[in-house]
Amino acid sequence: MTLTRRTSSPPASSTALLDFLNSHAYEGHPDDLSTFAAHPSDRVEDLRRLRDLLRGLVADSSSQSRRDDLSDWIGTTPLILGMDADGSLVIRPGDDTHTAAMLASVLELLRDGWWQRLRLCANVKECGVTFIDESRGGQRRWHAVETCGNRINSRRHRARQQS
Ligand SMILES: [Zn+2]
Repeated sequence: MTLTRRTSSPPASSTALLDFLNSHAYEGHPDDLSTFAAHPSDRVEDLRRLRDLLRGLVADSSSQSRRDDLSDWIGTTPLILGMDADGSLVIRPGDDTHTAAMLASVLELLRDGWWQRLRLCANVKECGVTFIDESRGGQRRWHAVETCGNRINSRRHRARQQS
């Protein structure tokens, strides 16, 4: 996938995928995964497995077992592939489940070269929010530098002064 040229902006479906990935519990935010299980075929435990898997892949994309797991999910979820008028690949969920929508979004990110730009906020313990790094150099570390970045940096600064 390294040959993929990134499109100018991430696919529209990535907003919903980020909401799903960020349904974990973190500071000031309860785990709200169950709100995504609106369709009878979406079981909360399956959504949790999928969320954990995708967050795990964002944290460490080199894990072969996680890649295999993702392949299994893609292979067993109804997805519709096609081609649009300009000849680019169209990926759509094959049913109304949240699972299919999320996997279609993952494939769109892969198609458009943005999957590798998914990051976990470096404030892992308190935050761990997933974001898309749209910076030119791809070195963004914080989901929001004003909150997570400044907090960690000032803590490091204080620790240095105390030592
Ligand atoms: Zn953060």
